[in-house]
Amino acid sequence: MKHIAIIGSGPAGYYTAEAAQKQWGDDVQIDIFDRLPVPYGLIRSGVAPDHQSIKGVAKRYEAVAQSDNVRFLGNVTIGEDISIAELEVLYDAVVLATGAPHDKKLGLEGEDLANVYGSAAFVGWYNGHPQFATLDPALSGTGAVVIGNGNVALDVARILAKTRDELAGSDIVAHALDILEESRIEQITILGRRGPHQIAMTTKELGELAHLTRACPRVDPGDLPDLGDDALLEPGQRKSVTHLRSFAAIPESHRADKAIEIEFDFFAAPKRIIGEQGKVTGVEVERTKLDGGRALGTGETYVIPASLVVACIGYQTSPIPGVPFEESAGRFANVDGRILPGLYCVGWARRGPSGTIGTNRPDGFSVIERLVEDFTSGAAGGPGKLGSEGFDVIAQQRALKIVRFRDWKKIEEAETGRAREDSPREKFVNVGAMIEAAGG
Ligand code: NAP
Repeated sequence: MKHIAIIGSGPAGYYTAEAAQKQWGDDVQIDIFDRLPVPYGLIRSGVAPDHQSIKGVAKRYEAVAQSDNVRFLGNVTIGEDISIAELEVLYDAVVLATGAPHDKKLGLEGEDLANVYGSAAFVGWYNGHPQFATLDPALSGTGAVVIGNGNVALDVARILAKTRDELAGSDIVAHALDILEESRIEQITILGRRGPHQIAMTTKELGELAHLTRACPRVDPGDLPDLGDDALLEPGQRKSVTHLRSFAAIPESHRADKAIEIEFDFFAAPKRIIGEQGKVTGVEVERTKLDGGRALGTGETYVIPASLVVACIGYQTSPIPGVPFEESAGRFANVDGRILPGLYCVGWARRGPSGTIGTNRPDGFSVIERLVEDFTSGAAGGPGKLGSEGFDVIAQQRALKIVRFRDWKKIEEAETGRAREDSPREKFVNVGAMIEAAGG
């Protein structure tokens, strides 16, 4: 029997559990830990609330979670309730699937002004993550700047632009819906430090901007490279750029009906966040030009007025004391998922914040190959590991309030039961309420 601890119950964690089951069948016992009482990581708190079909993948994880040899152990914080060193003694392998929950910093003056957020915080707020539920952003000004040209920037711009009716069917939490409904934002500027050919946005997500009830995208035709140059792009990227070209061709007459403009400002690097009395009032931007694919400042600057700034520039993993960390890349130091024999990482904790949910599946299978190598060579694992049984003893000694999968199903049922008419669920946004819904 192999005993495996997986830290993190998001996509990377569940795909790793699935791969372990495929490898060892009934001869493996897997404990999946999460610091929250609820599973699924970014599926619950990162994927946009109006992208419900993507969240459907959780059904697949549920099938894994309900197998006899897999346990979900929610409300356990590694490093506080139990250490990595203790887990390494109990389990043949410990796999860190902790994602990248922290915002990368812009490193700019003014970043700490009020109403300047990173996307982990802002997305966490509208998705009801307990850590960010009380963010309470002010949407009372007319200008918002979204920094970054990735899919998260698109999510944030779209959620800011959608009407209440357009959010029907989503699971955006009530506190966010109420604030968004009162929003006065008219101008959303998406800042890209490079150009249309360097965007990290995908076609479907970009295309959605063309179909918003009260918002219209704008691209300056002068920013678009020559049409012939699109042939040099990968097919997916080419399709995305086609959307940008169509945004540039939207006639002014069509814009007249739209209360909100989503403007793509390319070749524009944020230089400084400007504020008054502690609150953001604008972003100073430097015009850039490309040099071998890199953005170089031209010295030309201007200010975009804004009372809300959301930096969507990527995430980093939280270091864990004693676990080797690669500071510059914001992830655990590893080779192909192996940190040390017996200690591994997958998903964003392994490779940094890139790729889609599906990218984590091969990642999970690949890390299991490392485990097999180390078990076979004798570098990891061995007789005498107590696994789940050993953890349960410690949990009892420390009086940990573990939330099991059956408890999560009670939370889920309660969230479904209190949902708005047009929503699949109303999430609990603090840990106490989740535990209460689980029956205490
Ligand atoms: P991302 O795709 O890495 O994009 C980050 C963007 O921030 C890039 O445009 C980058 O520009 C820019 N940036 C980085 N540092 C900057 C700085 N200091 N100043 C200005 N701009 C800066 O990250 P993401 O949008 O957070 O997405 C993370 C991952 O999740 C991606 O793989 C994404 O595709 C995925 N995701 C997918 C979906 C979906 O499929 N629907 C939704 C959300 C997220 P440079 O290119 O110049 O570095």
